[in-house]
Order: sequence, then structure tokens, then C-alpha cells
Amino acid sequence: DAMNPDAMNEARAHLRSIFGFDDFRGRQSEVVERVMGGKSTLAVMPTGAGKSLTYQLPATVLDGTCLVVSPLIALMHDQLRSARANGIRAATLTSADADWRETMDAFRAGQLDLLYVAPERASQPQFRDLLASSPLSLFAIDEAHCVSEWGHDFRPDYRQLRPLMDAFAHVPRLALTATADEHTRADILAQLGIPASGMVIAGFDRPNIRYTIRHRDSAAKQIIGLMAENPGPGIVYAPTRRKVEALAQQLSASTGRKVLAYHAGLPAEERAANQAAFVASEDIVICATIAFGMGIDKPDVRFVAHAGIPKSIEAYYQETGRAGRDGDPANAVMLWGAGDFAQARQRLGELPEDRRTGERTRLDALAALVETSGCRRALLLRHFGENPPENCGNCDNCLNPPKVADITQVARKLLSAVYRTGQSFGFGHIQKVLTGSADDRVRQRGHDQLSVFGIVGADEAALLQPISRALQARGALVATDHGGLALGGNAPAILKGEQSVEMVLPPTRGSTAKGGRKR
Ligand code: ADP
Ligand code: ZN
Repeated sequence: DAMNPDAMNEARAHLRSIFGFDDFRGRQSEVVERVMGGKSTLAVMPTGAGKSLTYQLPATVLDGTCLVVSPLIALMHDQLRSARANGIRAATLTSADADWRETMDAFRAGQLDLLYVAPERASQPQFRDLLASSPLSLFAIDEAHCVSEWGHDFRPDYRQLRPLMDAFAHVPRLALTATADEHTRADILAQLGIPASGMVIAGFDRPNIRYTIRHRDSAAKQIIGLMAENPGPGIVYAPTRRKVEALAQQLSASTGRKVLAYHAGLPAEERAANQAAFVASEDIVICATIAFGMGIDKPDVRFVAHAGIPKSIEAYYQETGRAGRDGDPANAVMLWGAGDFAQARQRLGELPEDRRTGERTRLDALAALVETSGCRRALLLRHFGENPPENCGNCDNCLNPPKVADITQVARKLLSAVYRTGQSFGFGHIQKVLTGSADDRVRQRGHDQLSVFGIVGADEAALLQPISRALQARGALVATDHGGLALGGNAPAILKGEQSVEMVLPPTRGSTAKGGRKR
């Protein structure tokens, strides 16, 4: 049906009177216009672009209730608070709510603009009955990538949404996500029954974020350096609760700044208090697991550091996207180690067969980002289907172009040595064999008699460790359970000479823009 032109005028009026904004931002207006016209839509917009507005605003204009599907109760309650603060009639139906009866009565009576529910509701017959007896204006599906196995956060319950929504075919659908590569987008459209013409993709570039990715020598030291250059609020992501605690302590002890911890193992009150303190502060650093950040709206975060690799490029983009939402310069710094990739590749083996390929592809894409000698931003944006300029001028590699070397020959020597020694020895042993330094263990095993003994000269020897890391990131070398090295799936092509290997040479001390301090 054609849109009532007055409706869009009313939407613009509400934008000011209810939300207090002068104008739409980016492609919000397009999305709102489609929704107001009853057209199903997939909005792909980066974190901070203002996705919530694109359903909250129509919800205040259209007759009936906008049903919002959201994967996290905490997120829903944040949204609920801010919607109610704007005077919007909103409610949640979650396991954490006590006022179900009132909410259901209000819903049936058409007295709600927004109703937030978890995806689990979709498969409950009573819930379908409730929808059938209530006026609906819109289905809004937040974090829509959860519907796709290609996405990084698959939630089987999202698959039940399609049959539910199909039962109310006259109600338009608005799917929202910040993170979706081309494959995932196509899947979201198919899984939620949205036409391809209904996709609105906002630009992913965050030009004020400076991306830096470097090898981790000492996470604490490197982040202390980062904090010295960034006096404002920051987020430090660490992979485990234990590392979060340790890092928070080290950082606060060495910098004298307030550093708080945040992870799922802390009592709920402490977590909430730390989060609130961080949001209100102008200088607090929060050290956290990835549990932190969803739904947090703090515009002036000046840096986001990763003390280990994130789960994927999508996760990296989302987590770093919490920096610099105010548009002022911000830093995103990732510190990686070969062990991060080795562990992640090991975990692939524990996944069900059908998910392994997708996860492996994701890990390879992340390794490519870490390993590239080219522009980080260009790689990120290409990953999201954009066609960016070759150089951004605001990432480590653009600011300080690294030296790249063809290391195929040394890589083959290293892989051969791993193979010839039986794929069970650690890097130290392999290094001794290759450089011809025979200790007792080398001699006892007869490794001084191997053809690879002593084939790496002094000038190449210094590259062995970084090459080993690079090969691990690429899956050509994998760590065994006992700390040894074995050949990975990508090794044969290199050994057979079918694939050459280029590597960014590690910076020589003092030549880097940042963190290159002499000890
Ligand atoms: P997303 O869900 O896309 O990450 P949010 O919906 O949380 O983003 O919005 C991010 C921030 O942008 C919020 O502080 C919100 O109030 C603000 N915002 C949204 N739309 C506008 C607008 N048109 N003008 C100014 N600020 C806006
Ligand atoms: Zn760049």
C-alpha cells in the first residue's frame, strides 16, 4: 500500500518532539520511510549508527504495537529504560519480568508502542495466540545475524521467527544488524522472508578510529603505553576472567589510573556498579571480557584494546566500534600472539562438522587482517562488501608502511624440519636443528644427522620465530596438545612450492610510531 505522506511528516515531528533530534542521521530516513510504507527491510548499519530509532520512531506513529525481538535480556531492559525516558509506551515480556498480566492486557488493548521479547517466545503457541489477539504494527528483529549459521552468533530460536511472522503476513518486518558479510546478509533475507530489494546498507567506515595491530610482547606493557597516549576512557578486552583480573591490577598499579574489571564471574551488583562508573567517567579504563559492551552507549571512549585476538572480523569491528562514537579521534589496538590462532584453530576441531568450515573461513579472514601489510581499514571495509580506497592514511600500515619479504624459502625449511623431526617438538628444538646448534637432546634423537640440520644461516635465524608465528596464523603450522609443532592443512602447498609466503617483517626497535620504546 502507498504510504500516507502525512505519516512521514508526523515521523519527522516525533523525531524532534519525542527523541529530541534535529534530523535523521545517515540512512535512517530511508529505513523509516520504508517501514512507514509497510515494506519489509533489512537495515545493515554499524554500531552507533542509530538502529533503534528506525523502529522506535515508526512505533510511535503507526497504530498498534511494534514487537521487538532481541537476544539479550540486559539489552532489552536498557532499551526499555531509554524508550520510557522518552515517553514511549514500552514493555518487556521476559523471564525476568513480574508484570506479565498487565503487559499482556496493555498489549491486547493496543496501549503499547513497543513490546520487547526474546526469540524463545517465537516457538510458543500461547505467544502466537497472544499476537493474534493484539494489534501489531511491525516486527523488529534486532541482531538479525543471529538467524544465520554464517553469522558469528547463531541462535537456533531465531529460525522460529519466520513461521511466526508468516502467520501475520500483513505486518511488515524490519531486521537490524551491525555485522553481516555478504553471505550472512543473503541468508538473513532468506531466513526472515525479506526481499533483496529491501536491503539498506549504511557505510561501515569509522574514519576517526585509528587501527593498529601488532604482535604481543607484553600485553600489560604495551597497554600501559597506549594509556599514556590516551588519557580518556578506554576498554581493554582480555580473553579470560583470570586475565581480565590480572591485567586490571597491573594496569592500575603501573599507571595510577582507575582501572575496573568486568566479567561474568563478578557479582551482578559489582558488574553493574563498574559499568555505571565507566559510563559516567571521563578517564576510567575498563578491563573486560567480551561480555562487556553490548548496548552500552558511551560516546567518548578514546581507545579499545584487544589483549588477544577477537573471535572474527565481525566481532573485531563491533568491539572496536565502541571507540570514538562522538567522532573525535580514537584508537583501536589489537595485540596478537601465535598461540591465539593456534588455540582458535584447535577449538575448530571441537565444533560440529557443519559449523567448522564457516568458523575456519572466519579465522582465516581474521588472520589476513592481522598479517596484511596493506591498509587495515581497506581490508575491513572490503570484508563488509564495500569498495574503499587503497589507503586510508589512518591505520598503522598506512602511517608506517611495513617492509614485506618473500620468506617462502625459510618457511619451507621450517616446515621440513617440523616434518622430519616427527611433528612433536616445540619451536626451540626446531630452531636448534635448523641453525645447527646440537645440544644433548638434538644429538640423542639423531636430529644432527638430518638433512635439515644447520640449513638456516645467521641472517635468516632471526626470522624463524616471526615466521613460525605467521605460519601458525595461516594454519600451515599447528600446535600439538603437548606444546609441539605439527604441519597444518595449509602446509603442503607451501612445501610443494605451489604457494609462496610473504610476511610483514617485524619492526626494528625504535622505528615504530607508537610503543617502540627502548627497554
Ligand atoms: P545502534 O543500535 O545502531 O548501535 P543506537 O540505536 O544505540 O545505535 O544509537 C546510537 C546513538 O545515536 C544513541 O545515543 C542515539 O540516541 C543516537 N542517535 C540515534 N539517531 C540519532 C539522530 N538522528 N541524531 C542524533 N543522534 C542520534
Ligand atoms: Zn589504512
